[in-house]
Order: sequence, then structure tokens, then C-alpha cells
Amino acid sequence: MFTNRTVIRESNERIVLNTIAQKGPHSRALLSDTIGLNKATISDIVKKLIAQKLINEVGIGESTNLGGRKPIMLELNAKAGFSVSVDIGYNYIDVMAQRLDGTAYKRELFPFIVIKRETIIQEISDILDVFLSSLPKSPFGIVGILIAIHGVVLDNQIQFTPAYDLAGLDFSSALHEQFACPVYLENEANLLAVSDHTKEESYANLVSISIHSGIGSGVILNNELYTGINGYAGEIGHMQIVTENGRPCPCGASGCLECYASEKNILDTYQTRTGNKNALVTDLCRAFTEKEEEAMAVINDMVRYLATGIQNLTALYNPEIIFINSEISRLIPDFTKQIESRLTSFTSKNIAIKESHLGEEAILYGAGYLIIQRFLAS
Ligand SMILES: [Zn+2]
Repeated sequence: MFTNRTVIRESNERIVLNTIAQKGPHSRALLSDTIGLNKATISDIVKKLIAQKLINEVGIGESTNLGGRKPIMLELNAKAGFSVSVDIGYNYIDVMAQRLDGTAYKRELFPFIVIKRETIIQEISDILDVFLSSLPKSPFGIVGILIAIHGVVLDNQIQFTPAYDLAGLDFSSALHEQFACPVYLENEANLLAVSDHTKEESYANLVSISIHSGIGSGVILNNELYTGINGYAGEIGHMQIVTENGRPCPCGASGCLECYASEKNILDTYQTRTGNKNALVTDLCRAFTEKEEEAMAVINDMVRYLATGIQNLTALYNPEIIFINSEISRLIPDFTKQIESRLTSFTSKNIAIKESHLGEEAILYGAGYLIIQRFLAS
């Protein structure tokens, strides 16, 4: 039912394809100039890529200064296949398909799900079975599935998951067998960094902080995702910010940032203080903007703890910009400004703190970009 034509491309084919995919429409002559291959070789490669339905001839470009015929432009065939991203949050599953140019095609959110170790693979398999069947046919079908995990992932294996118990589960084999396409696993904060980096190409060094059930961050250094030797780089949720009588953390330490400033923790604290066990993040943020005392207290604490973590982060990585991704920062307009105002060290003074512009779908977008990069590089 699901087609995945795996084609091993020659190195020059990969270069031509990626040049068009990353830099937009090119004529054959421009490809020849940019890549440094002769025109006959470029023509042969282009012929092959058109036959494989990976690129299309589109429109007519501008003629060169020397005049002559206006060239035919070539662009990536965005409809050649789909990437499929799955975000397993602490109480939801979010699925999105993207075209090969990264644009979203279809998204489906399954909220209020209890993530259980015993059933999660079957659950994801059932969701994908229906979701993938709803996508139109395309030459390459599903070019990859990526599961975003809110925990530490190393080499496609889940190492540690504080918000749920999924460590060691083999999603990859089960789903690969069922859907016959590459299946990847990656930490959600790393995907956020990939997403911000793809959209904000001007920054070669950035950190994207993800605040959901826990707190993590993805680090891009010199345009590359930096994960560290064990995949823990950027795990700022487990930066100790309270050294005496700190709250115990599932990581084995106590006083960790995410025990004080994660969305889940902040909401739990708000629910306990107000006695409103059904309060949602939206209720908390509305109460904050209406200057309700309890809401202001928990949000101000969150800002204070986050500023401490971010202060330390800037001293470690010296990024150009820090992106924040959380529902709370989206709902409270000056949230990032409040954090910024607390950063006083020379290490953090000129570093911008910005809301991640892709919003709640950023993890899914990042996953899709990574799948597409890997497909085009294969
Ligand atoms: Zn911890």
C-alpha cells in the first residue's frame, strides 16, 4: 500500500538535487556555474532527476547579461513524496505530513492521551495506518517517519524519558516493518533547533529551548546540531538551579530547572495553589493577563528560574540568539522580554531571546526538515 522507491543517487546527482532544493530554482547553466560541472554532465543528471520525478522544469528565467535565449528553470518536485512527523508529548500525540519543500500538508492532533509503555507502539502504528492511507499517492510515497521523543535519544535509541516510560522501546523496527520506509527517532528539543535554524538561516549559532512536560534545548553550533557524546548536550532541564533541599528529579538529581519551570510543573503548582484541578495552561495565562495574584506568582517564578538557566546557557554556548518554544510564552506577549530583562551578565547582555515563530508545530516541522534532508542526501 505504501510505496517507497529507494534510489541510491550518485554523488553529483545528490549535489545537483540539494542545490536546487536548498537554493531554489536554477537553470542548467546556473547549476553548471554553481557546482563546477560541465553542461553536458549537468544535462545528463537533470534528465535523470526529471525521469525520477524529483525535479520539474518550470517557467522561464531571466536571460544573462550576454543576452540569448531565456533559460528553463528547474525546481524540486515538492509532490514527489511526504515526510511524516510524530510528536509523542506527555499527554498527546501529534502527527504531520509535509511535502518535500517542507510545507505542511496535513496535521492531526490526538490530545489527552495517556502514554503507556505497553501500548504506545501499537497506538502509533494504528494512528499512522489511518493517517498515511489518507495521503495522496506520490512517486516516492513516504520518504521517512520521525518520532519526536521528549527525552534523550542516541543513535535512534531512546535512552531516558522523564515524562513517560519509553526508554529502550524499539519503535524503529516495528514501524519500519509495517510502513517500509526509514524510521528515525530524535529528541524534540533538537528538532526545535533544526526547525529554527532552517527558518532563520542567518544564525549559525543558536539555542532553541523547549518548555513542555520538561525543559530541554537543542544547540546549533557553526550550523551543525551539537548533541554531545551521549546525546545530552542542551539538557538544560537538568541544570541544577536549587542546591539546597531541591525538589527530587526523575534524572536522579534534585533541584533541576524543569522541576521548577516546566509547563507541567507550573500548571501543577497553579492547580494546587488555586484548588482548581481542571485549570489548563490557557486558564493560567488568561488569569496572569488579568493580574490574578496566584497566576502572577507562578509565572513570575517561572521567569526567574528560566532566566537563571538561560544565564548559565549563554556562558556555556555563547549563541547569537535563543528561541523559546512553549504555550505559555505564546500566550503571554512579553514573556521573552521579561526573561531578557533579568539577564545582566556580560555573557548574556547582547543575546536576543525570541519566541520561536513556528509555534506549537515547530517540533513537527523540525522532524520533517530532518527527514527531507536525509532523503535528499541519500
Ligand atoms: Zn533532573
